[in-house]
Parts: sequence; structure tokens; C-alpha cells
Amino acid sequence: MMIKTEEIRELDSKTLDFILVAGPCSAESEQQVLDCARSLSAMGVRNFRAGAWKPRTRPGNFEGWGEKALEWLRTVKSETGMNVMTEVANARHVESALKAGIDMFWIGARTTTSPFAVQEIADSLRGVNIPVMVKNPINTELELWIGAFERLYGAGLTRLAAIHRGFSVHDERLYRYSPQWQIPVELRRRIPGLTILCDPSHMAGNSSLVPPLARKALDMKADGLFIEVHNDPEHALSDSAQQITPARLKELLHTLSLHRDTVKEDLEILKPYRENIEQTDLRIVELVAARLRASDKVGDMKRLRNLAVLQPERYKSLADDMIEEGRKYGLDEEFVRALFEILHTESIKHQLENNNL
Ligand code: PEP
Ligand code: MN
Repeated sequence: MMIKTEEIRELDSKTLDFILVAGPCSAESEQQVLDCARSLSAMGVRNFRAGAWKPRTRPGNFEGWGEKALEWLRTVKSETGMNVMTEVANARHVESALKAGIDMFWIGARTTTSPFAVQEIADSLRGVNIPVMVKNPINTELELWIGAFERLYGAGLTRLAAIHRGFSVHDERLYRYSPQWQIPVELRRRIPGLTILCDPSHMAGNSSLVPPLARKALDMKADGLFIEVHNDPEHALSDSAQQITPARLKELLHTLSLHRDTVKEDLEILKPYRENIEQTDLRIVELVAARLRASDKVGDMKRLRNLAVLQPERYKSLADDMIEEGRKYGLDEEFVRALFEILHTESIKHQLENNNL
């Protein structure tokens, strides 16, 4: 299925050159949600996240306030004007969240792993083209992630985005969930134009690793960040270790923008050198073509005189000359030998092919 998503305009940020969604892991109380939302709104954040229903690995942990929490999100929206989003994992969640006027949904990593659940969500959203972000499945299976997009798209949802939050792999030591950067890169290739955000919070599992991951994600061309922010992370009811305070987010945004300016400047500085490389590569192609034409000429003459195509002593002297010349420019002998081998093989191929004419 060819998926053609639409841009989610709500996500446009006025002050940043990337998308930012921020907010607490869970909506814990009206006060907690509002305090956090006010801090974020004051620093220009436009999109607020908070989980109303929390999928927990083990029962008995805080599982969210459900519909009550949706009311708090509505208050955030009316008070700050931010877009509010929450996680939905089944049709009942979708129905309540739509009724409460939540602006955008995300599908959690555990849910993406379950095709029945994703299909149920897709079916319950038929005719409602609300923005939906799909987190990567817990395991490193790109097809499951793509399958979720196909199910949603098949139900008429076009305002889709992906959230790369890392994968559960057995040999990851540093992060809670292994980044596996190649997977979102491949996702972008398979669904061109898809907006991909990075969630460095769940990836890191630890607040100190959030900034370097955020920076890496933007360097890897993520369209934006989806970050957990809590006014009092230490006392958070879920994901306490990985949430950062609004003040730390502010610092992070500042260092990210400095970093991005530096990267842009660096790219500017590289420009003339890159142009030089491009021009040189084009000249190499011209020279190789000229060499092959000369070699074709030799081939014609060998044929007329019934000479063998491959002449080993000639091969050796050409290779030696080239290596000797390369040495003058500090080129590695093995590299020059390999280069000569490629050129020579192609010339011989030409001469043999023309021989059949
Ligand atoms: C979350 O965003 O709080 C969450 C539960 O994320 P994930 O599905 O990535 O674990
Ligand atoms: Mn969380």
C-alpha cells in the first residue's frame, strides 16, 4: 500500500525550526498538569502531551486517571491554547478522548505491537481525520510499525506521524530502549514524506541521557522531539528517572539551537570544498571514458593483428607506473593497485566484447 500522509499543521512551531511535543508521562492531578502546561506554554511550547491511560508492564502500578485526566487536558487547552494529546490503546479510549475534544492521539509502543488493537483504533477513527502519532513497536520489527500506518491509512487517516522511542534488545547496556537509528531511516525510505519525531525520554530511561539523544536525533534528521517533562520528576508516578524539568528543557532548547546554528555554519564552510569534490568526480568520469576509448582503439588493432587481449607484462608495467606516480602524491599503494585493477578489468571486458563483433 502506498501511504501518502498529510502534514500536521498544528505541530508547526513558531520559535523553533523543529517540532516539539512536551509534557508529563502521566496526568497525575489537575494541579500537576496545569503547572507543567503553564511552564511549557510560557517558553513557547505549542503541543502538550500527558498520558490519561498508562499501559504498565506489571499490574498494581499507577494506571492513569482515564476520563478525569481528559478533563484536565481540556483545561490546559482552554487556558493555554496549546494542542493537547494523549495515548489511546483501544476503541473506548478513542471514543472518550474524541468526546473530550483532545486534539491529537498517540499509539503506544506496546499497542503498535498488537495488530488487533491497532485495527480496532483505526476502525474507531473512520471518518475522523485526527492527527495520530504511532510509536515504534517494542521489538525491532519495522514491518509492524509500517503495518500500523497501513491500518490507520486504510481507515482514511492521513494526518499521521511516527515517534521513534527505541527498541527492546537484549544487549543494550546504556539506554533503556536501544535507538537502532537505522530503523527510522528505513521507515522514511519506505514511507516518504512521513513526519518522524524522536522520543529521547523513553529511549534514554534516564534524564541525563535525554539531551545527547535529542541532539543526535536532530542530527539524524528527525523532524522533531517528543519529550517527557515534569515539574517534580523525582515524585512522578511513572517514568520518574527519565523526565526532565521545564527549566532543563529550556536549557536543552537553547543548546540545541546553538548546535544547529553551528551545524549550519559548518555546512556553509564546507560548500566550496564539496563543489570541488563534485567537479573532480565529474572529471574522473570523463577521464575514465577517455581511457576506455583509447583502450577500445588498442583492442581494434589487436584484433586486426590477431594479438591476445591480455598481455601480462603490459599489465604489470602499467600497474607499476601508476603506483609509482601515486607514490609521488602520497597515495596508498594498495589503493592505487585496486583502482588500476578496476580500470584494467573494464578495459579488458570492452576489448573482449568488441572482439565478438
Ligand atoms: C509514554 O509516552 O508515556 C509511553 C507509555 O510511551 P511508550 O509507549 O513509548 O512506552
Ligand atoms: Mn512515559
